Amino acid sequence: MKFNPAAALEKAHSLGEHNGVNQSINDSATFAFDSGELMTACFNGELEGAFLYSRHWNPSTYTLSKALAAMENTEAAWVTGSGMAAITNTILQICNSGDHIVASRTVYGGSYAFMKNYLPKFNISVTFIDTTNIEEVKHSIQDNTKLVYTETMNNPMLQIADIPSLAKITKEHGIKLVVDNTFTPLIFSPKELGADIVVYSMTKFINGKNDTTAGAICANEEFINSLLDLNNGTSMLLGGVLDSYRATNIQKNLYTLPIRMKQHSNNALYLAKRFNDIGIKAIYPGLENNPYHDIIKKTFNEKYGFGGMIAIDLNTANKASKFMSLMQKEGVGYLAVSLGYFRTLFSNSGKSTSSEVPEEDQKKMGLSEGLVRFSVGLDDDIEETFLTIEKCYNAIK
Ligand code: PLP
Repeated sequence: MKFNPAAALEKAHSLGEHNGVNQSINDSATFAFDSGELMTACFNGELEGAFLYSRHWNPSTYTLSKALAAMENTEAAWVTGSGMAAITNTILQICNSGDHIVASRTVYGGSYAFMKNYLPKFNISVTFIDTTNIEEVKHSIQDNTKLVYTETMNNPMLQIADIPSLAKITKEHGIKLVVDNTFTPLIFSPKELGADIVVYSMTKFINGKNDTTAGAICANEEFINSLLDLNNGTSMLLGGVLDSYRATNIQKNLYTLPIRMKQHSNNALYLAKRFNDIGIKAIYPGLENNPYHDIIKKTFNEKYGFGGMIAIDLNTANKASKFMSLMQKEGVGYLAVSLGYFRTLFSNSGKSTSSEVPEEDQKKMGLSEGLVRFSVGLDDDIEETFLTIEKCYNAIK
């Protein structure tokens, strides 16, 4: 039977301290032991169920990690203070000086900048390619390649990775497939499709409230334990853990993710179809004429739809700017970066969240300077939203 991520999440839910229906916030950075011997045993990893220090584990980060591992069907998970911490910790744990990465050119601007500008400091090289082109992936792998990095639905072009085909290649070469599933939680279960490590910015859909930054790394126990090794674990030594207050809040929000994703997807599909009706060229994998429609249909968890993200091309940055200002004024949503919020957010990717990508690479990605990315909200009356967007479009076109 096909894995059901929401059912797995519900099944893994348990009562908290004093039988509270929610987990308690554990407000301690350090934990006491009854004897020096017990503390030593804990340091040596010989004491099951004991907490030592919150940069490593805390009951609040532990229970959120367990819930995420259940949702992804991975053995373990660990939660971080931002999505970038999850991505950078994962890459730095896998790669050593002299290693090589094959990465999608079309990724979040911060991920691109980390790989392009920061990793060379450690003598780690990256070949940026179109990871939806499987032949290009095959040809880009070198003897020193340690991982292939891609986003399931990429930012901002909304292309869909063929994870089973990528996993076949990485397994043949004995290297890791790392997938950023930030745009599509529940819609995709990347580990089920063959990915080794799934990373998230929980700042977006998973939390859904835009009140904090957070991230997650979901993988097998061996990898999560390696991140937390006292002597050479990247997460333990760089210290990017999530705060326990935030962990507890995110965990509560996690259980409404299934209904939120369905509503984001329903609203986005409606808008994408209507955009096309009035001549706005919409990029949305749920549209039958989208080049990634077949692969998403083959690999997604259908119940959650095609996602809440749409991109439209207005050709020039000037037009995009006028359109976004007007939409904000008319109450469609907010001219803001980020995504996964209950209100619609829109931004001009080339001039904001992908501005780290040089123009030449933006061109290779097919990113027009007039591209406006929408994170469609949970609007109750999406028809009304559409009519307002149409009015704004007519005023600027
Ligand atoms: N991954 C994707 C796909 C993103 O869009 C973002 C941020 O926009 C990140 C990672 C980084 O997440 P954070 O801002 O939580 O560090």
